[in-house]
Amino acid sequence: MSVKTTCAYCGVGCGVLADVGPNGVAIKGDPDHPANFGRLCSKGSALGETLGTEGRLLAPQIGDRSAGWDEALDLVADKFSAAIAEHGPDSVAFYVSGQLLTEDYYVINKLAKGFVGTANIDTNSRLCMASTVVGHKRAFGTDTVPGLYTDLEEADTVVLVGSNLAWCHPVLYQRLAAAKAARPEMRVINVDPRRTATCDLADLHLRIAPGGDVALFNHLLAEISERGLVDEAYLTEAVSGFEAALDAARADDVSETGLSDADLAAFVDLWLANEKTVTVFSQGVNQSTSGVDKVNSIINCHLATGRIGKAGMGPLSVTGQPNAMGGREVGGLANTLACHLDIENPDHSKAVQDFWNAPVMPAAQGLKAIDMFDAVERGDIKALWVICTNPAQSLPDADRVRAAIKGCDFVVVSDMYDTTDTAQVADVVLPASGWGEKFGTVTNSDRLISRQRALRAAPGKARHDWEIICGVARRMGFGEAFNYHGPAEIFREHAALSGIAAAFNKDFDISGLAEISDDDYETFEPQHWPVSAVKTGGRFFGDRKFFTEDGRARMVAVSHRPLAQATDEDRPYRLNTGRIRDQWHTMTRTGQTGRLTQHMGEPYLEIHPEDALKLGLAAATLAKVDSPHGSAILRVMISDRVTQGEVFAPLHWTEDTCPTGRVNALVAPNVDKLSGQPESKATPVSISPYKAA
Ligand code: SF4
Repeated sequence: MSVKTTCAYCGVGCGVLADVGPNGVAIKGDPDHPANFGRLCSKGSALGETLGTEGRLLAPQIGDRSAGWDEALDLVADKFSAAIAEHGPDSVAFYVSGQLLTEDYYVINKLAKGFVGTANIDTNSRLCMASTVVGHKRAFGTDTVPGLYTDLEEADTVVLVGSNLAWCHPVLYQRLAAAKAARPEMRVINVDPRRTATCDLADLHLRIAPGGDVALFNHLLAEISERGLVDEAYLTEAVSGFEAALDAARADDVSETGLSDADLAAFVDLWLANEKTVTVFSQGVNQSTSGVDKVNSIINCHLATGRIGKAGMGPLSVTGQPNAMGGREVGGLANTLACHLDIENPDHSKAVQDFWNAPVMPAAQGLKAIDMFDAVERGDIKALWVICTNPAQSLPDADRVRAAIKGCDFVVVSDMYDTTDTAQVADVVLPASGWGEKFGTVTNSDRLISRQRALRAAPGKARHDWEIICGVARRMGFGEAFNYHGPAEIFREHAALSGIAAAFNKDFDISGLAEISDDDYETFEPQHWPVSAVKTGGRFFGDRKFFTEDGRARMVAVSHRPLAQATDEDRPYRLNTGRIRDQWHTMTRTGQTGRLTQHMGEPYLEIHPEDALKLGLAAATLAKVDSPHGSAILRVMISDRVTQGEVFAPLHWTEDTCPTGRVNALVAPNVDKLSGQPESKATPVSISPYKAA
């Protein structure tokens, strides 16, 4: 019999049917799942090939020896308790992952915020959609995704901004391609400095200058006004801030987009031609020192025209990770609280504290990812727990982050492997179960809650993350609050907690699931949130009511800002980093299958033919890339998919898989001041032919 589960990778959140047989696991798309209706991409369809247990960590590791669970958990609890007793709760930190299941995410947040009393818990989703979270809150009062995937299919114009949907959200791209094939009059605009695979679907490709998005959408807003297309009735009823936003838009310099007048006119004409317009945005928007302003510049245009909350229209952020959204629900970021409540609001904090019967709550935001590892480097963090992620590889300035972790007094890593760059420098590595072994829920980019289900038991002594976290919490003296019997019980508590969201006019309310039985949890079918007495599923804001104090959406005055670092004579090229079609993050799973490795077998540097000529780089030779933060040696790929002066490199390879190809070691740790999200797509670098010594 097929096991119905959810893909391990991107935020599309595809449903998977897994048939476990004597010769392995056969994977198919779930035809009934509302995210994919049976489709899968190359990564999802290869999931069955990634279930090998070779190289798995089978027992807790203390230093270079195996240990029993009791000894390992005692040690972790003692070290954390000692650090807290001596240096206070903010001397410890937790760095977790958008790949955790919601139940795991919930208990680690409960432990950190409610029982340790620190908000020093952040997540690799900081690199993924933190700018959108802040942009949503500024505009809507809450981190609310207004629309649904079906809006892409119902739209007449779809604008993709900083989103290589074809490679990074492939099934959503397939859905869009199918919709466009069925309705050839649909128009697709792709706004991206690179000519990516997504351009195959685009009627118009705007090769925008890096960082030019605010100027582009400000130009659009000014044109909306100029052409008399502002929805005045909508603004009067439901929006504040229009005049200030328009003034800022008019004052902005559209030349910062780097686009021709003809391209700008075509963009404005197409955006305005059809009321049913969806603007999809992803890492090209979020991973920027102006990320939050970019998000608001997009939302401003939808609010000014009333194009939100109805079928086929609205802004839509697509998240990178399978449970980035679930992390947002449980307050998994250092600046958020469970259920979209505000961490610095005493009433919200008190309500959560009362619900948890927790001894203490942090009064202020904690350290966001980049700041957290700066604090680790300074020695301010005495004990660090990294769960289900690999910051020594995946954060910007990765060499410095790795050295900082190595220098930390006590580091615990929970992972399937002890070979990751981070696990290699940890004091204790705890073996965790992985996809195909875990039970729980994830939430995708359009608020769809889906079950992940196990196909087999975890190998060796590996345990589920929630079990490991609760084991430590009990040993720290918090037993009462962490005596769960399984993920269903944790989910019920999470759902019950969400019931207080409505009391504070917040959107995340799944209290209708607070009494779900174990059996119903087991057979739970995908469902969009909210799930409450007031509202179940669907879009938000169709009623023109927002989650701000006055119930009105806010347009935000934003202006173009230059990228954090300019190129110069010494570093004349701008490095853009990102994912490739067939790999996922640091390849711990996708790297196991030869089929996926065939797409791109090694790290590469995509460079324009004129730049390659100038530098004396021939195709398939090696180039040395340097930034003030690190170096990498990458295979040269010559292509006019990048513009002159811009280069692209994928981020997947690690010390283990290609020691010279750690691209994140090059990336500058500049962040958006509001969201803390790093600008991973615009580091000035120098490039030279690599000559082996
Ligand atoms: Fe998995 Fe994303 Fe591919 Fe769907 S699109 S199968 S969720 S990687």
